[in-house]
Amino acid sequence: MGAPVPAADALAAPRAGGILTVDLAALADNWRRLRDRLVPGCQCAGVVKADGYGLGAGVVARTLYAAGCRVFFVAHLDEGLRLKPALPTDARVSVLSGPLPRTEPEFTAAGLVPVLNSPEQIEGWARHARTRAPGASAAIHVDTGMARLGLTDTEFSALVDDPDATRDFACDLVMSHLACADIPGHALNESQAEAFRRARARLPGVPGSLANSSGIFLGPGWHHDLARPGVALYGVNPTPGRPNPMADVVRLQARILQVRRVDALMTVGYGATHGVESGRRLATLGVGYADGLPRAAGGCVTGYLGDVPVPLVGRVSMDLITVDLGAVPENQPVAPGDLVDLIGPNNPVDHVAARAGTIGYEILTALGSRYARRYVDTRCSPTDHGAGGAGEGLTP
Ligand SMILES: *Cc1c(COP(=O)(O)O)cnc(C)c1O
Repeated sequence: MGAPVPAADALAAPRAGGILTVDLAALADNWRRLRDRLVPGCQCAGVVKADGYGLGAGVVARTLYAAGCRVFFVAHLDEGLRLKPALPTDARVSVLSGPLPRTEPEFTAAGLVPVLNSPEQIEGWARHARTRAPGASAAIHVDTGMARLGLTDTEFSALVDDPDATRDFACDLVMSHLACADIPGHALNESQAEAFRRARARLPGVPGSLANSSGIFLGPGWHHDLARPGVALYGVNPTPGRPNPMADVVRLQARILQVRRVDALMTVGYGATHGVESGRRLATLGVGYADGLPRAAGGCVTGYLGDVPVPLVGRVSMDLITVDLGAVPENQPVAPGDLVDLIGPNNPVDHVAARAGTIGYEILTALGSRYARRYVDTRCSPTDHGAGGAGEGLTP
């Protein structure tokens, strides 16, 4: 078994310390799988904040659009301003953090829909709509038990008791967010569902949205009219502790820069934290914490050379890690340029996250900007997505 050199390796020229491959067919497939789970009439949005969870918001959103997605969420205005022009005009791009004072005109000029999270945001939006953008759309966020963004019970009651407060704009969505959706037995899920039902009853006729990725799997009672999955689209397991119902989207390969045969009893890397005996074969790879690989992964995470596990040893450096080739057959050549999977079929993102003491969300959104990024589409025809044709290619 040789070192894994993918067929298209020539494309991702060995100028970067690692290659990040994003499977757009798997991404589109994940969106369809989630959509197909929803109750009839419930739409499936795509949450593409944080640059599409680190994978590239533009290409991710265009892929989801081609699969049928028409509603997108980002966190901040800047993200929305970048994303909106990358999508056909009938895509709704909604900004979860809502407008900060005096940014309202930027929303309407760009065709972005704010989520209004506080009485101040509602007042600001109403004033803007009244004077400059009559009937402008907005979503209203009610807090049902997370104390993060959204109106408190008291604020929401005051709002619905004052018909003037929302007269000048079109409130076309009421939403809330679940704190414990990934823990199906948690009492907060039922209590948030109940609080959301009560809130919706006070805004009759306004569509509702409650579920994130994991919320979809809590059951139909959490679906309402629009689901807002993020992380599951990207292959992270929305049902922790149970088999992952999603397809893997991300592969992360680190380039071997140097292979050495240790010739003395010594230690590896900064801090001299890991001892190796003479005769051991090690490889140094061109990925480090500056690429988003958590420093806590040192000594915990295992890479794979093909199907052979090669554990990280010593500390993670800024640009480098070291792996132990002890399990690789002695007669198997390993050379600079070969690739080691840090995230791949043998070590999906959830495993890597668990080993490094974090969650898949953090691993993905921390993925650095130095990787050669390769977007592949293994199953769709070129017309199925807007990422630039069949097969694969390097896309910014
Ligand atoms: C991030 C976010 C989502 C998506 O959550 P996932 O757990 O990634 O599916 C949905 N809604 C809101 C308000 C969010 O902030």
